[in-house]
Amino acid sequence: MLGHMHRRAFGHMGEVPAIGQGTWKMERDDRDEAIAALRRGLGLGLAHIDTAELYGAGDVEGLVGEAIAGRRDEVFLVSKVVPEHATYEGTLRACDKSLRRLRTDRLDCYLLHWPGSHALVDTIRAFEQLRRDEKIRSWGVSNFDVAELDAALEISGPGRIACNQVLYHLDERGVERALLPWCANHGVALVAYSPFGAGNFPSERTARGRVLSEVARSRGATPRQVALAFLLRHPSVFTIPKAARVAHIEENAGAADLVLTGDEIRRIDTEFPRSDSDSLRMI
Ligand code: NAP
Repeated sequence: MLGHMHRRAFGHMGEVPAIGQGTWKMERDDRDEAIAALRRGLGLGLAHIDTAELYGAGDVEGLVGEAIAGRRDEVFLVSKVVPEHATYEGTLRACDKSLRRLRTDRLDCYLLHWPGSHALVDTIRAFEQLRRDEKIRSWGVSNFDVAELDAALEISGPGRIACNQVLYHLDERGVERALLPWCANHGVALVAYSPFGAGNFPSERTARGRVLSEVARSRGATPRQVALAFLLRHPSVFTIPKAARVAHIEENAGAADLVLTGDEIRRIDTEFPRSDSDSLRMI
């Protein structure tokens, strides 16, 4: 059973579980196992499934569609349009294709994958049209820095941007400086992608890795659970670790009830200091 702490306000969209499931590169995993992992995640309450038309050139959306078949109402389903498609018409078309591959009639949130060269005003106009058509329940952005968020807000007005999905893990804490406060002030969820450093998780053979292990051991948790709890210490943050194995999903779900103490947070903060730069990095 997941604790109450697990759910939090996702922008203006009501409550969504803080830990979700990523799907990048899942086309390379054993398909049956990946589908079983996604389903196990749903069973454990990891309802937020993040995908994109880009992933496996549509194949991952197909895989997700299979995983959520018959369980659509349990899912907070997010997909993304690539910037190359993000004209007004192109966005409408891309969304229809994603819906078909996902075998559903609606997305819970639809994101612009990263800022591109097409006019943002046209992408947002398409998002608003899709919302009126009930093909998406909300929309957001990804890899937007503060200036880009300001520009989006200027176009959309308040209460429209549900989230900004950005790179955020222990070795990449630049978003804490300006982006996270911006999101908190404007009621925009900050979704941390690559929370385990995209597979480059601190090794236990390093001093820093050992700190994570020590905190983990003293809490009856694992280092990855401690890492997720550290990212989730701020109430505007959500995270979407990707796992194509049931055991990994179960471990990640176990982080939902872990709340670090002030001392534990300070120890981790010292070992994984945030850089001075607040320029936003993309993976
Ligand atoms: P990640 O979640 O930081 O790391 C994924 C890796 O960690 C996989 O190799 C996975 O292995 C492994 N893993 C997961 N749980 C584990 C556990 N409990 N124990 C050991 N290993 C574990 O990397 P990511 O996939 O880059 O990021 C997460 C999601 O964010 C993506 O899948 C995608 O949905 C999203 N994302 C978005 C953007 C964007 O531009 N918006 C960019 C990157 C990522 P297995 O798969 O073998 O279980």
